[in-house]
Amino acid sequence: MIIVLRPDVTAEQIDHVLERIAELGFKPHLSRGEHRTIVGVIGDDSRLQATPLSAIPGVEQVLPVLKPFKLASREMHPGDSIVEVPAGDAHPGHTVKIGGGHLAMIAGPCAVESAEILDDIAGKVKAAGANILRGGAFKPRTSPYSFQGLGEAGLKILREVGDKHGLPVVTEVMDPRQVEVVHRYADMFQIGARNMQNFDLLKEVGQTRKPVLLKRGMSATVKDLLMSAEYILSEGNLGVVLCERGVRSFEDSTRNMLDMSAVPNVKGQSHLPIIVDPSHATGRPDLIPPMARAAIAAGADGVHVEVHSCPEKALSDGPQALLPGQYAGLFQDMRRLAEVMGKCID
Ligand code: PEP
Ligand code: MN
Repeated sequence: MIIVLRPDVTAEQIDHVLERIAELGFKPHLSRGEHRTIVGVIGDDSRLQATPLSAIPGVEQVLPVLKPFKLASREMHPGDSIVEVPAGDAHPGHTVKIGGGHLAMIAGPCAVESAEILDDIAGKVKAAGANILRGGAFKPRTSPYSFQGLGEAGLKILREVGDKHGLPVVTEVMDPRQVEVVHRYADMFQIGARNMQNFDLLKEVGQTRKPVLLKRGMSATVKDLLMSAEYILSEGNLGVVLCERGVRSFEDSTRNMLDMSAVPNVKGQSHLPIIVDPSHATGRPDLIPPMARAAIAAGADGVHVEVHSCPEKALSDGPQALLPGQYAGLFQDMRRLAEVMGKCID
């Protein structure tokens, strides 16, 4: 349920509305827009239907929310959310915005392999224009015999290289027990496709105030994705960026099937930013640049691309990695498209 307050509502009246909701046993969520203040009522509010909430002073309208995700819904927050990703302490004041016209250009290797390799890739993607560096330290591999990532040593390298190049860093967290260590080194959590419905993990990152890149599960619907975002938001962390990275299908010439319609589909239902990962979606370097272009044209708030300076030696996802030069070419198209779409790359 959403309570829309009157434009002239006073601070005392807002406090009273919040108190009343809490008194009824629900969690109120206050959202102050430029023109309107809205209160979301979190919890199963079906029993509130009979409560005369519209009689509370300062309340203009009480709207039932038809969607099962409230905080993620556009009804709750009509404008586009902008998620801010601040760079580490080495660069105070440097923040990359995602959403509301700001594009995230996330690039880097699948995994952090060594300081030298990451430094080389980071310098090149930064020169091309990337604004956030990625690199996995905890890797979700299909085989237990494949490279599992460097763990905390990898996080340290990612932090140092990000600081050196002035890039905020994003990295995957796979388990609630890793949240604390990843929180210490990274500027943004990534929740991978395999963990989109790891609800304990969603709640744990929801308890922090660090932004989260939430990737769509490989057989998750758009509604499932938004419900997972709701888990994070309902814990109080409002910095959620969604990521379409393809879903499983019968098609076997690409790694996954990129659901580009998820971008405008999500935008119609939610205020949260959504970016596209054409690397994991297609698994093919020849398809990544055209799909990155299509993503921006479809209204995505950025793209997430894997880049490696020597794909043939990469310890994971080498076959889908773009060479730095190919990424620079892709980026020129991103700049042109950003202009066409009236967006900017911070
Ligand atoms: C990744 O980003 O390296 C990754 C494992 O992605 P996904 O979770 O989308 O498969
Ligand atoms: Mn990968």
